[in-house]
Amino acid sequence: GYRSRASYKLKQLDEDADLLSRGDTVVDLGAAPGGWLQVAAEAVGEEGTVVGVDLQRIDELEDHDVETIRGDMTEERTRHYLREAVGEAGADVVVSDMAPNMTGEYSLDHARSVHLARQAFDVAEELLAPGGDFVVKVFQGDDLDGFREEVDEAFEYVKTTSPPASRDASSEVYLVGKGRMTATVAVGD
Ligand code: SAM
Repeated sequence: GYRSRASYKLKQLDEDADLLSRGDTVVDLGAAPGGWLQVAAEAVGEEGTVVGVDLQRIDELEDHDVETIRGDMTEERTRHYLREAVGEAGADVVVSDMAPNMTGEYSLDHARSVHLARQAFDVAEELLAPGGDFVVKVFQGDDLDGFREEVDEAFEYVKTTSPPASRDASSEVYLVGKGRMTATVAVGD
């Protein structure tokens, strides 16, 4: 069985947007307790690679060889470990289900969610191979459109979706960026 109900969200996102393929390298941000990791590991198979990061400890997955990093994605140190784990070839897919601790104050929760989503976008820009895909959870609010525009510039197209499994839950939506476009690579980078 799956570790979290959240698993179904990634399954639905994958069915809808065709994200995960055998052999892929997948980065999962905000991965605890590990439901998305299970779905990703099944999809990529043994020849694929899955790396998960969370502030919380993630119990080892029984049937899958998944690498996990415990750390804060807003810290450079965590990004360093992630970069090392992913390696030179980069990632085919970056997914983020990161969410802030809810205060109940709507605008604050929204702002913190967008902040986390931006961290995920930075990681996607840094680690995604050309053509790679990006999924990120964001709470709806004033800054969503601006953030969506930023993401849109880096991908062939972006859509905003709300998978059935997440519809009863709050104001969350997922932005899906398909086909990372090759940016100009700085010489000596
Ligand atoms: N997708 C997961 C699953 O299927 O099991 C559920 C993820 S849960 C909704 C959101 C996670 O984001 C929490 O485990 C939380 O610890 C993590 N998170 C929030 N802020 C973070 C940060 N700055 N760095 C790393 N993880 C973070």
